[in-house]
Amino acid sequence: MAEFVPKSMAPDSADENIRPQRLEDFIGQEELRANLRVYLNAAKERGQSMDHVLFYGNPGLGKTTLARIMAAELGVNLVTTSGPVLERSGDLAAILTNLSRHDILFVDEIHRMPISVEEVLYPAMEDFTLDLIIGQGPAARTVKLDIEPFTLVGATTRLGLLSSPLRDRFGIISRLEFYTPEELSRVVRRSARILGVDVTEEGALEIGRRSRGTPRIANRLLRRVRDFAAVYGQGVVDGEQARAALVRLDVDEAGLDEMDRKILTVLIDHFNGGPVGVKTLAVACSEEIRTIEDIYEPYLIQCGFLNRTPRGRVATPKAYRHLNRLYGGSAQGSLL
Ligand code: ADP
Repeated sequence: MAEFVPKSMAPDSADENIRPQRLEDFIGQEELRANLRVYLNAAKERGQSMDHVLFYGNPGLGKTTLARIMAAELGVNLVTTSGPVLERSGDLAAILTNLSRHDILFVDEIHRMPISVEEVLYPAMEDFTLDLIIGQGPAARTVKLDIEPFTLVGATTRLGLLSSPLRDRFGIISRLEFYTPEELSRVVRRSARILGVDVTEEGALEIGRRSRGTPRIANRLLRRVRDFAAVYGQGVVDGEQARAALVRLDVDEAGLDEMDRKILTVLIDHFNGGPVGVKTLAVACSEEIRTIEDIYEPYLIQCGFLNRTPRGRVATPKAYRHLNRLYGGSAQGSLL
């Protein structure tokens, strides 16, 4: 996972045993799931490899999980790599020549592949061939090599970061949406069952409501809340336990974490609510621009706390209310 992803949202090895294995265990994303079911069945019936698939969306929404599910449903191997790891074209060529028939190659952060590596992918995706250059200088020649038909599954946090020749070679491009609190409470209940945690419906919903629309965060909060419930309660995660623990974890009622609130606070208190450019905002928050753009903003926009305008970022009246600031006028003071 990219270095710009904050630790609280990065993959966690504890996720492994609660990761859904089959499509029917995958919660939410109904339309995507239904379509994927059709594509998987069609590929199986035809006895062909499935079309190349690109998943895009925030970290922790289920891109890797879906790639694994696809391999399990098709009964093929999954080979995993990531854009930044593939430094030279030979790295990718070696992986491609080792694939078995219909295998799935999952490339995380696919937009971070160097262009020389990306070019190896074009004929591989299109005709299942590799153009290998043998020799050097004037004696160099190109040899076409057949590889087994395979399915490339690419994952990226932002579609716009992908070059268009690469994007055009995917037959299926799907966006993963943030999950609703109800869907996340189902994620929490499912994980709790696997982990042997006693969670009430209210407790699960409370965690679901405050997980930034992201299953990975819901699972992480469940584990933390469980610890608090074990120490301060009877070990049962009910609404009250969940609320108390989430306050301690610095997750507020809207599910915003410390950095979410910092972004809005800086925007309102230092820049009069905006508009302010993302570069300035990033410096003022001591955060990387990409982290703000790719991780924090999408959720703040989705919740209606922030707007992206051509002149910069603007805090909405809802953000002022949430942070107890007076909307309108200059240098708003706190209501408290
Ligand atoms: P991404 O690849 O998009 O960063 P992952 O696929 O690694 O995200 O998902 C993170 C974790 O969240 C997984 O380990 C899995 O347990 C959980 N998860 C993701 N999507 C779902 C889902 N739809 N239903 C249940 N759990 C999910």
